[in-house]
Amino acid sequence: MASKLDLAAPDLARIVAEVAAEVQPHRGEGHVADYIPALARVDGKRFGLAVITVDGETAEAGDAWMPFSIQSISKVFTLTLALQRLGDELWKRVGREPSGSRFNSIVQLEAEHGIPRNPFINAGAIVVTDALMEGRPPMEVVTDIRDNLRRFADNATIDVDKEVASSEAATGFRNYSLANFMRGFDNLKSPVEDTLTAYFHQCSLRITCRQLARAGLFLANGGKDPISGEQIISPEHARRICAVMMTCGHYDASGEFAFQVGLPGKSGVGGGILAVVPGKAAIGVWSPGLNESGTSQVGALALEKLAAKTGWSVF
Ligand code: GLN
Repeated sequence: MASKLDLAAPDLARIVAEVAAEVQPHRGEGHVADYIPALARVDGKRFGLAVITVDGETAEAGDAWMPFSIQSISKVFTLTLALQRLGDELWKRVGREPSGSRFNSIVQLEAEHGIPRNPFINAGAIVVTDALMEGRPPMEVVTDIRDNLRRFADNATIDVDKEVASSEAATGFRNYSLANFMRGFDNLKSPVEDTLTAYFHQCSLRITCRQLARAGLFLANGGKDPISGEQIISPEHARRICAVMMTCGHYDASGEFAFQVGLPGKSGVGGGILAVVPGKAAIGVWSPGLNESGTSQVGALALEKLAAKTGWSVF
């Protein structure tokens, strides 16, 4: 079968190795998230990169096998589940415009009547998680989210880091205020405590670059997992998720990421980034040091280099 890529497998392996070598001197740059001990003690010099193509080719470098805290990248997968189950009704409760604000900002919520700007800022992700609750106990929803991530990643070992989950709950004062505020506008259906329990646990899932790339591959292939053949979500919804990743995936630095990398992406404060190359590949990258907006500094640099060398920018 002819490859859908304009790139042979040995070239992809060479490019991934080159990118890893070029970012080597930058390892350790940025600031490791320190709002909870379990994140603060991660070695800031770690770097992992994994690419999987829609043809099933893989290329990896560095710590691609090492689990890290998924944090806000989980928002892509809960959005997928919510769109699959609720369809476009979801957009009545959450918008799809960039916020231009930090990930945990509350300022726009009052003016916009408790409807968050997009599903990737914390307020929006909390609403999306709430939409998945359907009256179920929170830990049942957590199992549902975890099991679906295991299915997308084709890996049954993915699980919640309990220490991270309880620290998130103990320090998540801003998330409590966002959730209470939205409950006041009737945009949260379940009790605040329940929805946040599910939200904190989804952020606390541990994943590797390899698993992350695999889990995101359906987004590169019109919503269909090219390896299992399963249509995970409709092509229309896959296209929309990628659009929101492009415009909102990095909070107030989404424009800069589009400018430098030119791929739909989603970052998390654990230092991971999922990037999607429509029609071609999915990429998982991880390096714990963050830039001012909460996106992995060296991870974003690696993606910039990878996009330049492969010509994979969508622009
Ligand atoms: N758990 C973090 C929070 O809700 C996730 C933030 C992030 O990764 N940007 O604050």
